[in-house]
Amino acid sequence: MIPVIEVKHLHKKFDNFVAVEDVNFTVNQGDVYGFLGPNGAGKSTTIRMMTTLIKPTSGEINFFGKSLTTDRKNILSRIGSIIEKPDFYLYLSARKNLRILGELSKADYSNKKIEELLDLVGLLSRADSKVKTYSYGMKQRLGLAQALLHDPDVIILDEPTNGLDPFGMKEIRDLILYLSKEKGKTIFLSSHILSEVEMIANRMVILNKGKVIVEGVVKDLLNTSAMTVTYDVSSSQKAKESLESTQWKDSFLRSTDTTITLTVKSNDVADITKLFVEKSISVNSVVPVRSLEEYFISLTSEEANVHVR
Ligand code: ADP
Repeated sequence: MIPVIEVKHLHKKFDNFVAVEDVNFTVNQGDVYGFLGPNGAGKSTTIRMMTTLIKPTSGEINFFGKSLTTDRKNILSRIGSIIEKPDFYLYLSARKNLRILGELSKADYSNKKIEELLDLVGLLSRADSKVKTYSYGMKQRLGLAQALLHDPDVIILDEPTNGLDPFGMKEIRDLILYLSKEKGKTIFLSSHILSEVEMIANRMVILNKGKVIVEGVVKDLLNTSAMTVTYDVSSSQKAKESLESTQWKDSFLRSTDTTITLTVKSNDVADITKLFVEKSISVNSVVPVRSLEEYFISLTSEEANVHVR
């Protein structure tokens, strides 16, 4: 099957600064593909090249088996994106905004289509209110409706949940899953939050300082034998001391008065709990932690069994 997106040996230099260096990945039909990396990793720069806002220094970007350089117009007509913060006419309603944007992009902007999109993104009951009265989350959802106006096959979203509260984040996640599962769209989604990508993406690539660190199936990549765990204990000081003469002496990551966070093999989590209890340290909870930083640490630890580039 021809991949929906293929990025090969992509480079971008700003003067002498290399923002993107030899980035390669492939997105297949139906993927919710996570594009993950800390701030400054080069995600936006890559996405801007994928949507022709800026030119690559070198490398190749193909959509649907065709080159973005030679088939730009046709490819862009099949992509919907929210890249920069969506720009709307604040004194007009959502309905009117979509109508104008539809006219500009020559998309199908029939009343019925606009009604359907507003319903899809949960804005139908507010469709005739001025956009200036909308919350940030509502504007994001209107942005998504706009990206869907021309019924694209691929949707590219750059940090779509940035600045949203947990409820707003969930609304966007649910929408993305709906578009993927019910509408068969291929979704490319950048984020700096690992747990968010973990919740919705099936495949992902992780970028750091412009370079690919890992690429593959989310479940496989996150199922490393090394994991980070926070133990809620009666005394973190005693817990730390109890580890000193054991095989886990180097596992310490950080602590507060009553929590201690360790990077350990998943098989050892229960044994460490047992050790604490034997040393009369009570353990109230054991919670796995997964932040991007900790994932990086687990990748570079020798326990990690994923392919690290
Ligand atoms: P991300 O989206 O992962 O946060 P960006 O792609 O925005 O990262 O930025 C990657 C790096 O490239 C950053 O160090 C940023 O400062 C730099 N950068 C981005 N755009 C430009 C530009 N137009 N000129 C110079 N440097 C840039």
